[in-house]
Amino acid sequence: TQEQNQLHFLVIPMGSPGHYIPTVDMAKLLAQHGVQVTIVTTPVNALRFGSILDQAIQSGLPICFLEFPLPYKEFGLPEGCESIDDLPDMKMTGALMQAYTSLQTQVEQYIEQLNPRPNCILADTFLLWPGETAKKFQIPRIMFDGMNCFTQMCNHVLHLSKVYESVGDSELESFVLPGLPDRIELTRSQLPFAFNPKIKGMSDYNEKLRVSESEAYGVVVNSFEELEQGYVDEYKKVKGDNVWCIGPLSLCQKDESEKVQRGNKSSVNKNECLKWLDSQETGSVIYACLGSVSRVEPAHLIELALALESSKRPFIWVVRAGHKTEKIEKWIEEQEFEKRTKDRALLIHGWAPQLLVLSHPAIGGFLTHCGWNSTLEGVCAGVPLITWPQFQEQFYNEKLVVQVLRTGVSVGAQKTSVLWGDDDKPGELVKSEAFVKAIEMVMEEGKEGEERRKRAKELSKMANKAIEEGGSSHRNMTRLIEAIKNQERNTKLI
Ligand code: UDP
Repeated sequence: TQEQNQLHFLVIPMGSPGHYIPTVDMAKLLAQHGVQVTIVTTPVNALRFGSILDQAIQSGLPICFLEFPLPYKEFGLPEGCESIDDLPDMKMTGALMQAYTSLQTQVEQYIEQLNPRPNCILADTFLLWPGETAKKFQIPRIMFDGMNCFTQMCNHVLHLSKVYESVGDSELESFVLPGLPDRIELTRSQLPFAFNPKIKGMSDYNEKLRVSESEAYGVVVNSFEELEQGYVDEYKKVKGDNVWCIGPLSLCQKDESEKVQRGNKSSVNKNECLKWLDSQETGSVIYACLGSVSRVEPAHLIELALALESSKRPFIWVVRAGHKTEKIEKWIEEQEFEKRTKDRALLIHGWAPQLLVLSHPAIGGFLTHCGWNSTLEGVCAGVPLITWPQFQEQFYNEKLVVQVLRTGVSVGAQKTSVLWGDDDKPGELVKSEAFVKAIEMVMEEGKEGEERRKRAKELSKMANKAIEEGGSSHRNMTRLIEAIKNQERNTKLI
């Protein structure tokens, strides 16, 4: 039951681990700030991601899940497929997004019978329908942006300037993004799909997104101000004051078991993993993991594997499970790769307890695809990054890490390497020598490496400070809640 005057937020996540995980973390934070939270979800996602909050709910935090069925068949989805990482083919992402729109009617029926109505709808940026629902019931809607202000500003200046249209024919010719605090250069083949006219329906969807964004009451960002102050300021100039950086959200999971329960059961025993890490020297291990959705070509992964092997350093390599991973697993087996590297390697086939691994002192470098959650988790852990972006805004995140924060080294990927749309081809192969070079630069003991490590540690301290009481993210969370309370008071006065 809802206490009198307690705010009630309806939180609506989108279906992929990279979106769900930070959204449920945010739900926990809101509840810790006294907000009653209802998370709108679907049966399989409720099981997968609900477990992240088991302890929080058991300890009495006011969070509940509201489950609605997803009509899989109607949208041509396999039974039980509710998340992008479970799709047999990435090209079905559109169908999954469509299936999610069917939640609208059910959610509206739920709101209809609620008295009082929820005070706020906090929905993933990429979902369009919550905007309509919020309008219908006159509830303030806040967008949850699982990315960062740097990405928002890159998108913003690209959209305004259309600078990518005036570069030559070559997809690999670099150009400067105009009007940003730093000189950021990209190539057309590194841009998110939103800027690729070849992908059907993309420009229409993006236009709708822009309208939806402009109508929202505000935006919550999983970042912290000290990390990208210049870009937060610029973004506020575009959006107004209702931009609240409240991250890093992963830091709200503090103890060991909370760090393991992240959307999938860990494919490695927690204690064995810790024992292996304990047996390694401080700062010596490279952790290589490419997130939850990227389906990297086996030939590309082989180059990575060979580089990890020839680096002669201890490493953890997470080999993603799911569709189209048979080829790489076959290669590992045929080459006896695990046997070859067993003295200094731990292979995780499936899902790694990433937060637990990253927070171990043995980790010295994180080879990442630059998904924002992974990037930020790396920042929190205070380790330098080896960056190998695959697609979407991951190329922006690489620039942020390598050029602005100067805590990472790029392996030099020039192109998106994930298949999407009709005309796309897998990007160019990054050769194992390029991985080795980047790994060596990050791990070397000289001045440059030392300074990079020092900067990474400083950022980690800043991140932890931001979420403490009095820290910028903590204050922003309070501001956000106050804003919704004021909004409520104003409505009552009218
Ligand atoms: N993750 C994990 N274990 C894995 C792979 C991923 O716990 O084996 C988590 C990771 O910690 C992060 C999320 O899944 O929180 C992936 O989000 P990210 O934005 O990094 O990448 P995406 O999967 O969306 O590309």
